[in-house]
Amino acid sequence: MKTVQDFDFKNKKALIRVDFNVPLDEQFQVTDSTRIEAAKPTIDAILAQGGSVILMSHLGRPKGVEAKYSLQHIVHITSEILGVPVQFASNCVGEVAQEAAQNLLAGSVLILENLRFHPEEEAGDVAFAKELASLGDIYVNDAFGTAHRAHASTTIIAQFFPEHKCFGLLLAKEIESLNKVLKNSEKPVTAVLGGSKVSSKITVIENILDKVDHMIIGGGMTFTFVKALGGKIGNSICEDDKQDLALEILRLAKEKGVQIHLPVDVVAADAFANDAQTQVVDVNSIPDGWQGLDAGPKSLDLFKEVIMESKTILWNGPLGVFELENFANGTITLGNYIAEATAKGAFSLVGGGDSVAAVKQFGLEHKVSYVSTGGGAMLEMLEGRVLPGIAAILE
Ligand code: AMP
Repeated sequence: MKTVQDFDFKNKKALIRVDFNVPLDEQFQVTDSTRIEAAKPTIDAILAQGGSVILMSHLGRPKGVEAKYSLQHIVHITSEILGVPVQFASNCVGEVAQEAAQNLLAGSVLILENLRFHPEEEAGDVAFAKELASLGDIYVNDAFGTAHRAHASTTIIAQFFPEHKCFGLLLAKEIESLNKVLKNSEKPVTAVLGGSKVSSKITVIENILDKVDHMIIGGGMTFTFVKALGGKIGNSICEDDKQDLALEILRLAKEKGVQIHLPVDVVAADAFANDAQTQVVDVNSIPDGWQGLDAGPKSLDLFKEVIMESKTILWNGPLGVFELENFANGTITLGNYIAEATAKGAFSLVGGGDSVAAVKQFGLEHKVSYVSTGGGAMLEMLEGRVLPGIAAILE
């Protein structure tokens, strides 16, 4: 696996695909710069060698050229984070880009305008990719968040750098961390899968049944399993058409020797609202009119035992409706157990938009081993798929 450490960038132009798809407020100020900070080590490494850096990214989902999605908005903060001046080209291809790239001096950084102002980007257009490719000497992919897309700048472009393409340090770290869970994992391996629906996680569950010793299932997904097993789930969220699938997962798990742990009790509410009335009930006997919105104390004790004896932990999806304060306890408590196990030497990987948000919100970000930056991309890797952006570098 080649990374920026395997190339000499002196007097070379590195063309780096980054994921600078950051949130902006109404004044176009960046409200969370995590993704820019995450790309800094790769950029620093290249600048330190005497190379120059051309950054390309998308921002939002523009329909053609839309000023509000201009990457111009992030030039200033990128310069602050990198500690060097940052230039901007108002188009990612054409004369403007060519000229800016040609005049770029060693040690300088240039950001190209939003790739998605051109429909050719998402279409994976070869001619467009070739034009982008002409701007740099070495192609670096450091955008995990879009590695599952065969877009011009994430995948198609790599063919124009047969000997001069590599992973950035962030993407390399993502791959290495996922491999620590999926391939070279220390046992026992535990996956915690939460979130609202079985249907969105089913391929992940099927794929990782071959890799884990324990699987904790929580969140809204719980109730499809509980109902399929004959429990009374009241008004809890449930995918009725996925009940057979739930039973099939349980059968497969048994066959493969994977222990499945479902909640035994839940915090039930009489409405989907933070100020609803609540009671802790057995997961199999939720009264009519009540819905399970968080894991109960007995469940958390059981999960704790499993987490504490695990050497590798993967966490995707909250254990309850953590956005509502009164139903966040399960997710916070689980996060703390994972942090504790990590402090004792376990490797823990947290990924997926909601679990990442939860980990950050509850201050656990630095207490787990790795927080993945790519939601969809991570799920696809967990599903066992080869991501096109990764394959294009390896080919
Ligand atoms: P997902 O996008 O599938 O990972 O699901 C994340 C969402 O699941 C979060 O917004 C949670 O609020 C929601 N969720 C977790 N537990 C429950 C539950 N018991 N009932 C309804 N929604 C839930």
